[in-house]
Amino acid sequence: MGRINVLDKHTAELIAAGEVVERPSSVVKELLENSIDAGATQITVEIMHGGIDYLRITDNGCGILKEDVRNAFKRNATSKISVDSDLEKIGTLGFRGEALASISSVSKVQLITKAKEENIGSAYEIDGGEEISFDDAGCPDGTTLIMRNLFYNVPARYKFLKKDVAEGNAVASVIDKIALSHPEIAITFIRDNKRVLKTAGDGKLMSSIYAVYGRDFASTLIPVDYELNGMKLTGYISRPTNGRANRNMQNTFINGRFVKSRTISVALEEACKGSIMIGKFPSCVLNLQISPEAVDVNVHPAKIEVRFINERPVFDTVYHGVKSALLRGDSRKEAVLNH
Ligand code: ADP
Ligand code: MG
Repeated sequence: MGRINVLDKHTAELIAAGEVVERPSSVVKELLENSIDAGATQITVEIMHGGIDYLRITDNGCGILKEDVRNAFKRNATSKISVDSDLEKIGTLGFRGEALASISSVSKVQLITKAKEENIGSAYEIDGGEEISFDDAGCPDGTTLIMRNLFYNVPARYKFLKKDVAEGNAVASVIDKIALSHPEIAITFIRDNKRVLKTAGDGKLMSSIYAVYGRDFASTLIPVDYELNGMKLTGYISRPTNGRANRNMQNTFINGRFVKSRTISVALEEACKGSIMIGKFPSCVLNLQISPEAVDVNVHPAKIEVRFINERPVFDTVYHGVKSALLRGDSRKEAVLNH
């Protein structure tokens, strides 16, 4: 007998789920992205005990058609792309059709949803990938997804979760990033019965920065608005005198998607060199608008890393964009001083 086993569907599903769902914050990220892709203008996230025991997200987006409800939880089932060539120009945050399949295979999920064009909504329950119930439901347009008992059926994973506070903080950090990248969406976050964030949803980045980081930080920022090489860099950077000991407040987005990009981070820091103290790091909330064909977001299931087809023009745009903002920031300060 051979030594290689073809794993059964359930085991294979748990392995695949592990790539997408690592902890409550990865669940929140996926679900928030779904709400955004659904065109929501209001999203509320509520968690209890770090999101491990209970996590709810409600949006006023397009909802899911009754006939699509079961399919939404199947792997590689998505309404966002249909053919391979779509992968070259992804305009949505999701596209892999993996999140709901993964989440529902490692927790207990309840979905309540109503599509705008249908008269009656759906209530669907699925535990560890097994359908429990599917009923009609009277509910408002939009989608609510409740997840309970993350990793109840994967003890090996459950063991690796951190304490509630650490998991809750990771959730908060994901929500902060999404709030900063989508000032047009009113986002509310309730943690253990306490409202800890509420953004205005008025479309102004400064309003979101204010809600997330507070007035002191917001008041030290310099605006960035720069175009080069067919790209547009917008947002805010901290004054060089407000350097921080770490990079935690370097928020970079590409076409509204939070990413970690070495190219952008290096360009930012190079541009600040000379004006910021050695050992200190600039903070920023910067969005780079770039043609979707020039960037590959399909690097990793969590989609945080990106690859640029050409790194150099991206570096140049960020570098010169930040440099010119710093120069402007300086002259403005002098104008005030000379007044
Ligand atoms: P993906 O986002 O990659 O398409 P998901 O597993 O996250 O895959 O979601 C599967 C499908 O379920 C989506 O393509 C979408 O059609 C639907 N869906 C998920 N969440 C929502 C939501 N909040 N509102 C409307 N539709 C949703
Ligand atoms: Mg998704």
